[in-house]
Amino acid sequence: MGKKTYSRQTSLLHSHGYDAHTGAVSTPVYHATTFHQSNFDQFGAYDYSRSGNPTRETLEETIAELEGGVRGFAFSSGMAAISTSFLILSKGDHVLISEEVYGGTYRLITEVLNRFGIQYSFVDMRDLHEVARSIRPNTKVIYIETPSNPLLNITDIEGIVKLAKANDCYTFLDNTFMTPLLQRPLSLGIDVVLHSATKFLAGHSDVLAGLAVTGNELLAEKLAFLQNSFGAVLGPQDSWLLLRGLKTLHVRLKQSSESAYKISRFLETREEVEEVYYPGLSYHKGHEIHVRQAEGPGAVLSFRLKSEVEVRRLSKAVKIPVFAVSLGAVESILSYPAKMSHASMPQPERERRGITDGLLRLSVGLEDTNELIEDLKQGLNSIKIESIHDKIIHL
Ligand SMILES: *Cc1c(COP(=O)(O)O)cnc(C)c1O
Repeated sequence: MGKKTYSRQTSLLHSHGYDAHTGAVSTPVYHATTFHQSNFDQFGAYDYSRSGNPTRETLEETIAELEGGVRGFAFSSGMAAISTSFLILSKGDHVLISEEVYGGTYRLITEVLNRFGIQYSFVDMRDLHEVARSIRPNTKVIYIETPSNPLLNITDIEGIVKLAKANDCYTFLDNTFMTPLLQRPLSLGIDVVLHSATKFLAGHSDVLAGLAVTGNELLAEKLAFLQNSFGAVLGPQDSWLLLRGLKTLHVRLKQSSESAYKISRFLETREEVEEVYYPGLSYHKGHEIHVRQAEGPGAVLSFRLKSEVEVRRLSKAVKIPVFAVSLGAVESILSYPAKMSHASMPQPERERRGITDGLLRLSVGLEDTNELIEDLKQGLNSIKIESIHDKIIHL
């Protein structure tokens, strides 16, 4: 493509151009782990694939461009990206983390990093006063997820960035739920954006991957060093799958978000549903902040039924969504946070965060919207039918 800047929709398809040697439209998969050094005294662009692989590099350049950063890094999973980024910390440093952080990140902080003398505290990131009060002299990173998982709570990104800058801390943001098409945290001052690319970016429930992007040259150098030192890099085949998934990100996200909005409107009309959590609803807490800092509500919503019994009935009755962990796929995925994403969190901690036994999360895929709604409708109807049935049996 020429010099003109194109929309992200267009540049997603053309930014990495064609293969310089063959004109191949699809990025070649370089399986080579080592590269011939034609000059005795000097390495070429690549020497060993942990330090740099041409297929992975294309992916890393693509995500850096999408997020508007200076450099991107691809890892073997979202947790590998997150864990490696945390390695910029040293013993005695403190991290301030969003209370509603992804279960795996919670486990990393509380059961792994703590053993290396890294201190932490959890805060409600929606409350900027609480965040300000919780910053310590040794706080090095403020870690946020917005919208959060699974209650889609919204954090004011610029508010946090201001506090972090005033206190000389870095900010990390897990952008998995939004993708760079809906939210560009670096442009709001965030230092490192993280992704579980396993979700929307890859999009087809067939590749496990993680990405990190920074707009800061110094951090880029540190992350490159850590990526190579820790070694949890993404393989060339998976890098290619991810590049392929990215090409349709725009249409996938558009269709899924539109469906998610319609489904959230449907769910709010049902008496079985106590609450619906979706940033696209005008009454959703933080809606106004979200609209200011993001370009859309995304394709994940949660809703609360009265009890685990009702959750069991609904999940047994629905036919279309996969009942599974994960999100961001072409197929809709219904998850039960209490026993899935947040299973590693102690129950009192979980309930205090609102992740009760009646809560379900739905990641909306590409199925026909009306068929999804019909399916949920018969699922919700079955709650009452089964409860009448139970009463008759117990008479
Ligand atoms: C899935 C997920 C992760 C972890 O990513 P993996 O690819 O499973 O290692 C981190 N953050 C969020 C928000 C996620 O949904």
